Amino acid sequence: MKLKEIQNTFRTNLNGAYENEEIDRFFYLLIEDYYGVSRLQLAMNPGIEIENSKAILDALELIKEHKPIQYIMGETEFYGLPFKVNGHVLIPRPETEELVEWILNCHSEPSEESRKITILDIGTGSGCIAIALAKNLPNAKVYALDVSKDALKIAKQNAELNKVNIEFIEADILSLCQGEDISKSQKFDIIVSNPPYVRELEKEMMNHNVLDHEPHLALFVKDNNPLLFYEAISGFAKTALTENGQLFFEINEYLGKETVDLLEKYKFKNIELKQDIFGKNRMVKAEINS
Ligand code: SAM
Ligand code: GLN
Repeated sequence: MKLKEIQNTFRTNLNGAYENEEIDRFFYLLIEDYYGVSRLQLAMNPGIEIENSKAILDALELIKEHKPIQYIMGETEFYGLPFKVNGHVLIPRPETEELVEWILNCHSEPSEESRKITILDIGTGSGCIAIALAKNLPNAKVYALDVSKDALKIAKQNAELNKVNIEFIEADILSLCQGEDISKSQKFDIIVSNPPYVRELEKEMMNHNVLDHEPHLALFVKDNNPLLFYEAISGFAKTALTENGQLFFEINEYLGKETVDLLEKYKFKNIELKQDIFGKNRMVKAEINS
């Protein structure tokens, strides 16, 4: 079958459900991944035929069901690095790249390069934050924690794929007991977390590709206690951070003030609320000492 015919099948089948550019983006990503044909190659040889079109037509069916292209291909990119993903892990988001960028900017002084720092990523999912930090701070010892065995399986594969050494911990951060166990043996210079923060009431604003396919364990919190992870992690961080330790959070854009208030309640200092490139309150940083 000619690839151009398949492209037309994509356009007619997905018309209305997605913008034209997005339909073409899916198609080009898939032909590169499945058949090693680039967009440019197809433009130069429009007659290219493939023998077995089953894989790409199966993918089209999944796109029709709003399955994210990253899950269909089983991979994505975060901070310029490759990551495997499946339905047990959240697809890494661009706003989380901004959080990583912020942390790296705070640790970019030449004096920092040789400093051995210890980092803990709570709710690591695909491992994206922990791995991007480990890759860019080669002197850091990085720990990554998640409650989900299945997520940790993928995160471990991603650490191997990116050739970084990460200490993975399977634990429930809401169970203080286990949290205390970790902080007794180890203190951290940086604790970072992008915990679940989407309220049930925000579900109706969400797209089907997220709602029907991404893990709810990674996303949702109860409307009446949306900051429970921030509360648990702040309490944990008070004992687990080193003397000059820093806490970084990705946050719910609608709960910037509430998150800052919470950190003040826990007597953190130098609390900074930061917007993402869309001007939304998206991350906070707090320190143990002033
Ligand atoms: N860090 C990844 C990222 O930024 O793309 C994933 C973040 S996702 C929003 C939240 C993660 O927290 C999920 O991987 C989920 O399994 C994990 N999680 C949920 N409840 C948890 C708990 N009680 N203890 C530890 N991790 C938890
Ligand atoms: N930013 C993600 C979304 O809107 C949510 C991530 C999270 O809950 N931490 O889908």
